[in-house]
Amino acid sequence: MNMPHNNDSASSSPPREPSSASSAPLREPSSAFSHSQLHLPDEELLHRCISCGFCLPTCPTYNASLLERSSPRGRLRLIKAVAYGELPVSDIFAEEMSYCLACRACETACPAGVQYGKLAEAARAFVREQRPPRFWPRLLRTLILEKIFPYPNRLNLLGRLLYWSQRLKLPEIGLATGVLKLWPALARITPLAPRVAGKFSHQIVPAHLPARGARRGRVGVLSGCVAGLIYPDVNLDTVEVLARNGWEVVVPPQQRCCGSLHGHTGDHATAMMLARHNIDVFLAAGVQAIIVNAAGCSSFMKEYDFLLADDPEYAEKAKTVAHMTRDICEFLAETGFTPPLTRGDGGDKVRVTYHEACHLAHAQKIRSAPRRVLAAIPGLALVELPESDWCCGSAGIYNVVRHKDAEVFLERKMKNIESTGASIVVSGNPGCSVQLEYGARSRGLALQVRHPVSLLAEAYRSENGAERET
Ligand code: SF4
Ligand code: SF4
Repeated sequence: MNMPHNNDSASSSPPREPSSASSAPLREPSSAFSHSQLHLPDEELLHRCISCGFCLPTCPTYNASLLERSSPRGRLRLIKAVAYGELPVSDIFAEEMSYCLACRACETACPAGVQYGKLAEAARAFVREQRPPRFWPRLLRTLILEKIFPYPNRLNLLGRLLYWSQRLKLPEIGLATGVLKLWPALARITPLAPRVAGKFSHQIVPAHLPARGARRGRVGVLSGCVAGLIYPDVNLDTVEVLARNGWEVVVPPQQRCCGSLHGHTGDHATAMMLARHNIDVFLAAGVQAIIVNAAGCSSFMKEYDFLLADDPEYAEKAKTVAHMTRDICEFLAETGFTPPLTRGDGGDKVRVTYHEACHLAHAQKIRSAPRRVLAAIPGLALVELPESDWCCGSAGIYNVVRHKDAEVFLERKMKNIESTGASIVVSGNPGCSVQLEYGARSRGLALQVRHPVSLLAEAYRSENGAERET
């Protein structure tokens, strides 16, 4: 359904609304949005769109397809029509909900305060209920998202299996011998797979780290699910940077996946189960803030209050946890941090560019804090990335389930990164980092992908002349 990408469509004046599309009359929602398993948007949310079209030039899927129905405005019309029972949950509706990246760039552009993300999540949950996926995709999702991700021991076991399969080069052998061609979808996504670390987060990150110097307070850190298997060093860097800045840090071992992947794919039951669990864990930890180094997770945890608004036991606790949640750079910028004295490299400055994760820039409106952290690190020259807040195509599991579409968005991102001449691209979200690393690898680029907190931690270490233990 995608037409070739066309930059010209991103003009400053909003495209005109098709005359055939008339507004749905205001009526009571049908039972479409009142199933007990759905978290319902307020009815008022369905009526905020004034059809101005300002969001269209910022929408990656509209830009790629030039179809009104693949734009935020078009999708909002579809959601509204389905909510009021005027349209069935058709193939087109299901396709549009799936094609959307949930990047929420439309929310940033919208002058009417449309909360597209909340409506899209409710709509996806409804699609999932009304049109369950086919047998194999359903089995795979159930197995991975519902039966493995929420349980750290099972996830660690899966991580260990993947680690050894990568060390034994099984994916390469499968591709070279054609065995993987028996399952084309798997063959397509195998090159995407990130390198699994030898030691996982819980093996290298202390559950408790005292503050260095004068103690400013006590904070908790979310260690994440998959991120703890592929980027455990970012968790270690996070706790060390916090402790270095006077914070006593706890990483509660009982915590689990935040539930964002489940929420974004319409599995609200699992998302709510995980949210309740983490709320209990972090409230029991006696911390004044919950620090997260993954944009998708902090964004989701900040919306725990919305997710559990109808839960009499958890609504207030969810509000508390949502208000305590902070992205690591947001927290450092808010509370202040000690700028490192030197990066220890000497010589020319290293050229870095910053990719804005959608769930930082659009969902949380965090734009300057990561740049402030980077600007404080001596030895780095920050070059602005063109279209820095344009989605890279990662979008949760979008790059896995819609690999071809994700490639279109990745291509645009990689061209922009190359144009900066940077040797390091900085990302505050593990999903984006995986996608950008794949983009660099598949194009043969000598490009490092780093988290801002890792560059800060490195600068602190080189300040002390300390070498990292691996
Ligand atoms: S979330 Fe992103 S892809 Fe989806 S409609 Fe909004 S701008 Fe377009
Ligand atoms: S979502 Fe917002 S920006 Fe887009 S058409 Fe509706 S009111 Fe305008």
